[in-house]
Amino acid sequence: MDLSRFPRRRYTQGCTPIEPLAHLSRALGGPDIYLKRDDMLGLFPGGNKTRKLEFLVADALAVGADTLVTCGAVQSNHCRITLAAAVKEGLKCRLVLEERVAGSYDPHGNGNHFMFELLGAETIEVLPGGSDMAAAMQRHADSLAAEGRKGYVIPGGGSNALGALGYVACAQEILAQSFESGIRFDAIVVGSGSSGTHGGLVAGLFGMNADIPVIGIGVSRDAAEQEPLVHAEAQATLALLGVRTELPRSLVRSVGGYWQPKYSLPNRRMVEAVQMLARLEAVPLDPTYTGKAMAGLIGLVRAGEFKRDANLLFIHTGGLPSLFAATEVVLGRTPVPD
Ligand SMILES: *Cc1c(COP(=O)(O)O)cnc(C)c1O
Repeated sequence: MDLSRFPRRRYTQGCTPIEPLAHLSRALGGPDIYLKRDDMLGLFPGGNKTRKLEFLVADALAVGADTLVTCGAVQSNHCRITLAAAVKEGLKCRLVLEERVAGSYDPHGNGNHFMFELLGAETIEVLPGGSDMAAAMQRHADSLAAEGRKGYVIPGGGSNALGALGYVACAQEILAQSFESGIRFDAIVVGSGSSGTHGGLVAGLFGMNADIPVIGIGVSRDAAEQEPLVHAEAQATLALLGVRTELPRSLVRSVGGYWQPKYSLPNRRMVEAVQMLARLEAVPLDPTYTGKAMAGLIGLVRAGEFKRDANLLFIHTGGLPSLFAATEVVLGRTPVPD
């Protein structure tokens, strides 16, 4: 698969490291767990959206856009990284935020709320949960056009086929690092939300005929709802790459049960995972994505899902700012449900 056919901006120098989590592996008495540090991607503090935006922003520039328009939840890492990319490129950026939990947007708040202000979003529109976000973004694009400007609409999470190419590139990077280091991964574990990350990885590994299963830990949906989304995303990505083979449905696996009570709301297993990674490995996880995804990995290891000598690769997808909006929760000082 030749990604060089697609225009791309570069926001990270080189590859993100893959580090062994020796203390965590020992504490769990289980497989060797490695961490792909996609929290060290560019557009500080970077995360998985950085990889997607390399392709999306290149496309925006190619069509002559002067403003990026995107949407997300109120603590959206995607919105913050899109805004950071816009700043880097000298573009404006408009954000539409969905208040999935009523009253949760605080313009004086911490974490990404603070970053939206600091990085200078042109507009921040907050809509109630369940609003038609695509329509709201289109209204911005239309009003920009009426002013003689040109908006480029990026879907939530940057998850379309073009954005998912960022995780096809990541799959290529992982295989190259695996080849260099001589470590063969038996499974890759990653958080699965708007599905571009999970879908891009599956598409990339399938396209390269690499037989490494990807296990997505749902951050907002159980498997019955999440897997069809990821399958469609991966299939669309393969089509964009010109791979015509049908993607077997069995290659898309997601695990539910770790995101409840609701997307972005904390639970006890997330708090345990955030504390374990901080105190065993000095790795900060975030409460909405990587904390719950790591709780899923820990849960699967404890349930005996993997052989003791297996090598697992967990992808750290970033999200650092929202950790600072959840300090009391992750320190265990605020009671949270199981
Ligand atoms: C957006 C996000 C995810 C989920 O990635 P998707 O491509 O939306 O599935 C995971 N982790 C972090 C930190 C994110 O910001």
